[in-house]
Amino acid sequence: MHTTLTDSAEEAARILNAGQVVAFPTETVYGLGASIQRPEAIRQLFEAKGRPGDNPLIVHIYSIEQLPEVATEINPAAKKLIERFFPGPLTLVLKKSPQVPFSVTAGLETVGVRCPANPVAREFLRQCNSPVAAPSANLSGRPSATSWETVYEDLGGKISCILKGEASTIGLESTIVDCSGSEPILLRAGAITLEQLQAVLPVISTRTTHKSGEAPKSPGLKYPHYAPKASLQLCESGETITAQPSSAYIGLSPAPEGVVKAMVCGNLEAYGRELFSFFRLCDTERIRLIYCELPANQGLGRAIRDRLMRAAGKA
Ligand code: AMP
Ligand code: MG
Repeated sequence: MHTTLTDSAEEAARILNAGQVVAFPTETVYGLGASIQRPEAIRQLFEAKGRPGDNPLIVHIYSIEQLPEVATEINPAAKKLIERFFPGPLTLVLKKSPQVPFSVTAGLETVGVRCPANPVAREFLRQCNSPVAAPSANLSGRPSATSWETVYEDLGGKISCILKGEASTIGLESTIVDCSGSEPILLRAGAITLEQLQAVLPVISTRTTHKSGEAPKSPGLKYPHYAPKASLQLCESGETITAQPSSAYIGLSPAPEGVVKAMVCGNLEAYGRELFSFFRLCDTERIRLIYCELPANQGLGRAIRDRLMRAAGKA
């Protein structure tokens, strides 16, 4: 299949509206989009990524006005989060509207909804005739793609179009909050931090601390994610590292001696932005082991820790 590379949101939307699969930039990571009204495009999307069919897709909208097309029964907690954080790097799990097919939600009665803030994403979504289901634009299990070049690396020849934009400014997938039940639950950490959510909703709980009744279903979280080809060794800050041959390092502290590649990040924002592109660079350069410094489990550090633990197969 020929993959069209374009700078034009209009051209990319035309291709999506014709029933094709199109990758597009967002502030979190690149998304791989298909119209929720095109079952064949949704099927092709799962196939292109090699994504298991029981892993639901997040539906993307260009503005809050489009929300009724996707979700119903928006409770007060959801309203508060929408008011404060939409558009932005936050996905809400809500009761799905009948228009959203079960192929998108992996059979669930709920749907993940996000309104990205990236202007190119919003212009593209505005020109699409329907809401757009979009997981991250990488092969299933690989680190998410944060630039159009890395989307091409994984999916070139397998999808119809890549809308070229800037590299993702956040570099980590959206925060996910389940607002479909009686109390809101943080399902996935992201750039909207738990502390920011608590400032709006003091009652929010995290997935691990949720006790009342059955745990919420977030099927995708059980799959291995984000993994580079190299092995990962997670380190605490200040830990002494004796570097192995062909090893690399990413973290906030100075790099250990002897690594052949290092990414020292000035702050957590830079760490989040660089993490997946560094993993991919290490793969290109055949690095065998990556030392990753675990940041403190607060603020954005919570999301970075979560991705590192999953990439290392420890969560
Ligand atoms: P990705 O777009 O690749 O970051 O994956 C989307 C993730 O969002 C899935 O793996 C799920 O963990 C989560 N998700 C999407 N829709 C739902 C839903 N209806 N209920 C719970 N979690 C969801
Ligand atoms: Mg993903």
